Amino acid sequence: MKYEVVIGLEIHLELLTRSKLFCGCSTAFGLGPNTNCCPVCLGLPGSLPVFNRKAIELAVTAALALKSEVQINSRFDRKNYFYPDLPKAYQVSQYDQPLARGGCLEIELDKSRRKVSLERIHLEEEAGKLVHAGESIIGANYSLVDYNRAGIPLLEIVTAPNLYSGHEARLFLEELHSVLLYCSVSDCKMEEGSLRCDANISLRPAGSPTLGTRTEVKNMNSFRSVEMALEFEAKRQESILTAGGSIIQETFHWDEEKKHTFPLRSKEESSDYRYFPEPDLLPLVLESSYVEKLAERLPMLPQEHRLKLLDQYQLKVKEAVLLTRNRELGDFFETAAVSYSDYRNLINWVQGDLLYQLRESGRDLKKIDPRLFAELLIMVDDGKISRPVAKELLAEMVQTGADPGEMVENRHLGLISSRESLMPVIEQVILGNPDAVDNYRQGKKKALAFLVGKVMAVTGGRADPAELNRLLKEKLK
Ligand code: ADP
Ligand code: ZN
Ligand code: MG
Repeated sequence: MKYEVVIGLEIHLELLTRSKLFCGCSTAFGLGPNTNCCPVCLGLPGSLPVFNRKAIELAVTAALALKSEVQINSRFDRKNYFYPDLPKAYQVSQYDQPLARGGCLEIELDKSRRKVSLERIHLEEEAGKLVHAGESIIGANYSLVDYNRAGIPLLEIVTAPNLYSGHEARLFLEELHSVLLYCSVSDCKMEEGSLRCDANISLRPAGSPTLGTRTEVKNMNSFRSVEMALEFEAKRQESILTAGGSIIQETFHWDEEKKHTFPLRSKEESSDYRYFPEPDLLPLVLESSYVEKLAERLPMLPQEHRLKLLDQYQLKVKEAVLLTRNRELGDFFETAAVSYSDYRNLINWVQGDLLYQLRESGRDLKKIDPRLFAELLIMVDDGKISRPVAKELLAEMVQTGADPGEMVENRHLGLISSRESLMPVIEQVILGNPDAVDNYRQGKKKALAFLVGKVMAVTGGRADPAELNRLLKEKLK
């Protein structure tokens, strides 16, 4: 039987507030254990929570950006469970009256687009962090707990079971990531845990209208591992179903090293959490004018930005996606484009040599000024320097931010195109490579490229290629 994969994601992201959701403690990352805590976030008796306005503003902004319907009336509930990362033994969350319902996000597939529906978006508080002694949670001798993160505002975004492969799940997360960064609600760092994703996955006979039994996969720490974990889990379920077995609803842990999932615990039901309304907080009532004001303040979102890039610079969809995924690169391109109007050449350099140099050097875009990058391309176009020289200069610009014009001047890197300068080198190369010269004269065209390469090597890549070709052919006649 042919099976169809069905996936729904639950994404948690830490909102970019300076203080926690219900107290004034700092949300700064990387401080000494248990230094950002107070009676409220430790759940000491007699302490009372107070809403953080900024958290609500960011949550509503994210909901609006995701076309989710913001609820004027919502409420907080206690989700009860006992685990050492939760000092109060309950998490303040939203249950049956979430902050926002529905919503959607469009993803770009190979040749089409698809709207992925959302179920809900709600606010809740972050738990503390457990550090296990030993390699992993299983078999650890003891665990340490750090409550610095307890009480940081979290936004939970839940998709409908509306994604149909690990790859689609990854595309969805990448697009979501861009949207959230564009509206500055979170720094979305998966490696620091400020964006996390749990995935629910099931199989059903292709075309069947009902959903199969799902498993949940946790502990993926990159978009790539979400894709890999889901592909692994889909295969695991398929082999069980094909052998006539059935899927048990349980939670799996993704092991990044071993690249497979293993079971953690049986999945709890929502009734296990004994949700009840949080008695220490009033219901959250928003004014519609407040929501409207935030809607007006929404920045341009990635999709709209892509349309602008396609239109204004005649880019391809893939290129526009690249520039919106990597916001810094997008800004870089657009600033360079102000002073350089051959957009096709510009994007080719950006996605080719520039990205290559950044990868090679392990640098980011901070050093290199897009205006100087544009100057570099103009020097190539004007015949002032050769492409190989430009590439070398770029490698240096990425490292030091140096001005290419100055480097060319100070180091005499300009293109050599005069007959007087090129001829002596050509003659020397011809004398030194009699075999190649013979080959060329016998009609082997490749030999010419070989000789051109030799002249380039002697001139440090500075010979004007067109002039060099012409003079070399003339000399070889
Ligand atoms: P829970 O009570 O475990 O939080 P929810 O009903 O809130 O369960 O769903 C959590 C996520 O799981 C949602 O993203 C939803 O789309 C997805 N989901 C639910 N059922 C299935 C299923 N059978 N297969 C795949 N995903 C599912
Ligand atoms: Zn606190
Ligand atoms: Mg849920």
